[in-house]
Amino acid sequence: MLCCEIVSVGTELLLGDILDTNAQYLSKELASMGIAVLHRSTVGDNPERLRQTVELALSRSDVVLLTGGLGPTADDITKEVCADVMGFALVRNDEAEESMRAFFKTRGRPMPESNLKQADVPQGGIVFQNDNGTAPGMAMEKDGKSVILLPGPPNEMRAMFADKVKPFLAAKTTGVIVSHTVRTMGIGESDMAERVAPLLRLSNPTVAPYAKQGEALLRVTAYADTQEEAEKRMAPILSQIRGILGEYIYGVDVEDIQHAVVQALLAKKLRVATAESCTAGYIAKRLTEVAGASDVFDCGLVTYSNDMKEKLLGVRHETLAKHGAVSAETATEMAAGAKRVSGADVAVAVTGVAGPGCSENKPVGLVYIGIADRDGARAVRFETGRRDREFNRYVTASRALHLVWQSIQKY
Ligand code: ATP
Repeated sequence: MLCCEIVSVGTELLLGDILDTNAQYLSKELASMGIAVLHRSTVGDNPERLRQTVELALSRSDVVLLTGGLGPTADDITKEVCADVMGFALVRNDEAEESMRAFFKTRGRPMPESNLKQADVPQGGIVFQNDNGTAPGMAMEKDGKSVILLPGPPNEMRAMFADKVKPFLAAKTTGVIVSHTVRTMGIGESDMAERVAPLLRLSNPTVAPYAKQGEALLRVTAYADTQEEAEKRMAPILSQIRGILGEYIYGVDVEDIQHAVVQALLAKKLRVATAESCTAGYIAKRLTEVAGASDVFDCGLVTYSNDMKEKLLGVRHETLAKHGAVSAETATEMAAGAKRVSGADVAVAVTGVAGPGCSENKPVGLVYIGIADRDGARAVRFETGRRDREFNRYVTASRALHLVWQSIQKY
């Protein structure tokens, strides 16, 4: 298996001025090609540190991919340092010079002569012309190792990688890496990891847990010669995971809970309605992010005040007076009201304390979610455990959508 390493060059990356989206893009692309990315590093525009980084990368990887520092200014040193490390001389490339002059001409701007520095390429190396900018990319190969240089601007880097570097690398590699993501809700990452602990020690496929905005995910990844073989390796592991975590899993390779809900509603020809207090439309927003939502989403009511809970949803005055707005009783009546008003098959309602301050002397992060379906109306209680208002609203919407998903499974 081909081992690759990504080096992102630029002091602005180290200072936190820009996010290293190039490395993220390249990691994903390389993984999908069956190339293992074993290390990633970031280094500033400093020749000595860049040299050390490239030498170290070459000592442990077959391919070193660098982005950034190919521009015309004195601090753009990637090419010079890499050519020196690889023992290549730099020579002027006519095609690169011509395309650089043409680039400036089409934009009606004079080309500073210093720009021609970018047309210098390693003698005996491979040049990737830049169709979206002026700095060409290049590759240098020696002793079975390759150093590939790509421009820093993401639009230039992505186009050059996709059109030119990808085919170049594809010729060197065999095999594919295939991944599946198992998405769960209602179980914490560490609890999930404990339950599948023996699977986490496997090497091909690998099983890796991670947490994302209140959800716990498991990524199963296999390497094989063909996609079919990779799938064969993963199938028994995925079925073991289903056996262990079944009740928490809402989908494999689904984008998110709202996509899972809309797909399930469409498949069963059901419709949903929402009544929201603390999330104030967040559930409706997330449902309607999904194409096709209009076939399954009836209406979303935002009833923030107690008055509106009574007027629009028919929550009883005594319920609010006795139990408060943040209570199982209110959530249940809100859900029942939303179902009645809309005529939907399933209605979900939320009421809670998003924070940062508490309300009704109830703790921040306390939420009740009401659900009304063919079995009647009821509510579940949960606590987010956080004081972060945005997080609490997001996680509450996720849990409400998950309850809808669970309810649909009965139909
Ligand atoms: P230029 O010809 O523009 O100088 P370059 O190849 O020298 O191109 P840099 O100067 O290192 O590239 O970066 C140019 C711009 O590209 C940066 O200001 C930044 O906006 C973007 N960029 C560089 N590296 C990255 C990266 N790793 N991830 C995301 N954006 C990046």
